[in-house]
Order: sequence, then structure tokens, then C-alpha cells
Amino acid sequence: MKKSRADEILENVQKNIECPPATQDISLNLQNRKICVEKANYGPANPELDNDVFWQQKADLFKTTTDQAKTMRCKNCSAFVIKDKMRRCIEKGICEEDMNEAAKIVDLANLGYCELFDFKCAGDRTCDAWITGGPLK
Ligand code: SF4
Repeated sequence: MKKSRADEILENVQKNIECPPATQDISLNLQNRKICVEKANYGPANPELDNDVFWQQKADLFKTTTDQAKTMRCKNCSAFVIKDKMRRCIEKGICEEDMNEAAKIVDLANLGYCELFDFKCAGDRTCDAWITGGPLK
């Protein structure tokens, strides 16, 4: 099917969006994520599990309860960027050929971009550098 002029313009706009390199380069993203794991205890590895030890460590760090620590996640961190433009970058880096599929992946993982450590992070995870007041919309 022939593309409409509007689709062509949208495609060109999407191609020309300047994206952070880590959103387009999985190796760089993994490298930066590893730094966040090592320097700031990014996790938990699987946020769907209880992860009692992980949350107790976060509670100890912030001198609070585990219940309160569990409310401090990437999804409400000020360094978590979920602006439309950034979302398009993340989707493009995941699967430029099928942006609908990429959008589903972004939604399922609640992905945003960590401005502090420069990588795509999952909304349900957190790290020691968590900043109140987010996300950045
Ligand atoms: S700085 Fe914020 S967005 Fe980045 S990994 Fe830590 S909690 Fe997540």
C-alpha cells in the first residue's frame, strides 16, 4: 500500500529525532545499566517478586520502612524521563520496523529513560539515587 504524504512526513520527523545514544544502542544501554547496578544498586532484578532483602536495604539506606521504600521507584523519580519525544526514541531503538509492537513493550515494562545513568529503565525498579518529584513528563 502506498504511503500517504502525512505518513511520509511523520516517518521523516521520527528519523530526525535526536535520541540519546543508549536508546539506540543496546550494548551501550547494558553498559550504563551495569554501572547503575554496581554504583547505585539498581533493581530488583524481578520487581514482581517480594525481594524482601532488596527493599530492606533500601529502607535502611533511606532510614525508613520497607513499605515507604517500595513507593520510591523509577516511575516516580525525577530522573525518569517519559516525555513523548523520549518515548519515541525508546520505541525506535526497540523495533523501528514495528513501532506498534515497540510501544506495547514500552507499556508492559513501563520503560523510561534514566537521565542520571543514561539508560532505559523500568518503572517498577529503583536505585539509591532516587529523586523525589518524578517522573519527568
Ligand atoms: S536515578 Fe531514578 S530513574 Fe534512574 S535508575 Fe535511579 S531511580 Fe531509576
